[in-house]
Order: sequence, then C-alpha cells, then structure tokens
Amino acid sequence: MKTALQGLFPEELQALCKAAGQPAFRGTQLWQWLQVQGATRWEQLGNLPRALKEELAESHTPGPAILLKESGEPGGTRKWLIGLADGENVETVLIPARARHTVCVSTQVGCKMGCAFCASATGGYARNLSAGEIVAQVHLAAAQIGRRPDNVVYMGMGEPFDNYDETLKSVRLLNHPAGLHIGARRITLSTSGVIPGIRRLAGEGLQVELSVSLHAADPELRRKLMPVENKYPLDELLRECAAYTVETNRIITFEYTLIQGVNDSVRAAEELADRLRRFPCRVNLIPLSPVAEFAGVAPPRAAMEAFLQALARNGVEGTLRESKGKGVDAACGQLRRRNRPAE
Ligand code: SAH
Repeated sequence: MKTALQGLFPEELQALCKAAGQPAFRGTQLWQWLQVQGATRWEQLGNLPRALKEELAESHTPGPAILLKESGEPGGTRKWLIGLADGENVETVLIPARARHTVCVSTQVGCKMGCAFCASATGGYARNLSAGEIVAQVHLAAAQIGRRPDNVVYMGMGEPFDNYDETLKSVRLLNHPAGLHIGARRITLSTSGVIPGIRRLAGEGLQVELSVSLHAADPELRRKLMPVENKYPLDELLRECAAYTVETNRIITFEYTLIQGVNDSVRAAEELADRLRRFPCRVNLIPLSPVAEFAGVAPPRAAMEAFLQALARNGVEGTLRESKGKGVDAACGQLRRRNRPAE
C-alpha cells in the first residue's frame, strides 16, 4: 500500500526528495502543497518536476483519504464516509458549534475494544490508520468548510492508544507551526482506558487534552459495557489518571455515556464522584446514541440533569453534552457498516 505523504515531516519529505536525486528544497515545496495548500492530487503540485512526481508516485500518494459520501443536516453535524487507498472505509465527523468547527477523526479501520454500545466494534477490526491518513481527514474537513478547523478530537472510529505511534505522529503533524498549526490544547485524544498509552502520553511533553471513557464507576458494570476493563481495571486506570494529572499538571475529562436503567442513577453518580473527587478532572455526560446492536436508550432529560446535579453536590464538575448527529447516522461506525457490501 502506498504511503500517505501527509504523514511525513518536512525533514522526511526532504530526505525522500534527496533519495530521488532532487534537492532538499523540493521536500519543503511538497510540504507546502500538502500541509498548507491541502493538495490531494499530483496535478496540483504545480512547481514540482514531473520526473520527481512520477518516481514518488510509485510508493507514495498525496490522496490517501477520499470523500465518498456525506450525510447530515444543513448547519448541523456532517458525517463523511472516507475511502482509503486499499478500499477500506472510515468516518470523519464535522461538528460545527457557534464560531468553532471541530473535526472528529478516526484512528483505525474498525476497533478491537468491543464496547457494548459502540457501532465501531461491530463492523470488525481491519487495520491501523497511518499518521498521514489521520492528518488527511483534517485536510479533507478543511477543504469542505473552506477554512482550517479549530479543534480536532480523536473520537471517531478506533482506539487511539491501540495505534499509539501513528496517532502521536499525526498530533505532531497537525500541531506543526509550518503546517495546519492546530494548537495542542485544541487537540483531544480519547481513550477507552489503555493504561500504557496514558503513561506514554504523560511523558510526551505535549499540551494536548486527554479524555478517558469511563461509562461506569462500578467495575462489574464497566466490564459488561467495556471489555477493556478486564485488561485495565478501573482502580488501576484511575491511579494512572491521577498520576497523569500530577505529572502533566493537566486536567483529565472523563466521558460517561448515559444509558437509561444501566448507569444513570443518582447512586451511580455518587459512586462516580467518590472515585473522581480525588484528583482534578471533569466529567462529560453523553446521552447514548441509539445503535442497532444495543438495546439501551438515553435517559430522559430530567434524569440526566439529576445525574449532573448529584455529581456537583459531590464535588465533581460535569457538563451534559447535547446529543448531536442524531439525524445523521448517530454514533460512529454506522456509516462504514452500512456501506459494506453484503458478504
Ligand atoms: N476509543 C476511544 C475513542 C473513540 S469513541 C474511546 O473509547 O474513548 C469516542 C466516545 O464516544 C467514547 O467515549 C465512546 O465510548 C463514545 N461512544 C461510542 N458509542 C457511543 C454511543 N452509541 N452513544 C454515545 N457515546 C458513544
């Protein structure tokens, strides 16, 4: 499979051009076309010698992510089905909010984590995305909205810390001052709780935001919702999160998807607060998006507000996220699955 050029730093592009017998500045020109102009086709790279392009084209591509299909509502969340060079699909979501545009990127084709309520797992896991395939999703979004997106969240398909190296490289590329230059604080990595990834991130010296998906404060319940609990148990996970906040001096956001009658009681909120009060953090409450494979539904608004208030009463700050994308295809993974040919 051809390597995505969007996954290479300026120095790597320079080395690539030198290896092709060209001066290093050709690499800088390539970077400009790809990361500043957002070029995705060889024809767009106007000032580069044809011979260089032909040689690079044997092993590299400037178009690793192609828009196949869009769903969404005018002015609302837009969801794109993305075609990759080997014919696999992922999804990228654009969430417009007031003046800011947030792009939600995928890091894997499918996912191995198997969370009960998540559509990504049900389509099966195929492979990791390369850094270039991740970066290309943001460029694709930029081309669609006609400007640079403000925030990038790694909350699409896949588990970022199950694809740690390519994910981190994509963060550094997006953050690169000579490229899109998306501020580290405007980039959020979201993990289902892969402890080694949290530990490694703490040592990266990056000011990125970290979200950890919890969904339950009781280990037994969490195990039913998230098989990752078997490998990385809640107590250990929260110890690691506390260590992360000390080491990085940064707050963690915990994602908590509310499911009626499952994890939405005031008692569950108190339990959650008991565990989280000990270190600086906040909780993002997300109403469950309906997925075909999971019987649960989101609680009524009043129950979600009661949950939020119980957190606050017990010393933990939370926010209730509006459910967006209901009219589209709700949760991630659904577009990809629906697009699959019958087997
Ligand atoms: N694997 C990473 C990032 C991708 S999922 C993680 O688990 O954090 C991004 C967030 O969406 C996670 O918190 C995930 O649990 C949540 N999510 C998945 N399916 C959902 C659904 N049907 N309704 C609401 N939230 C969902």
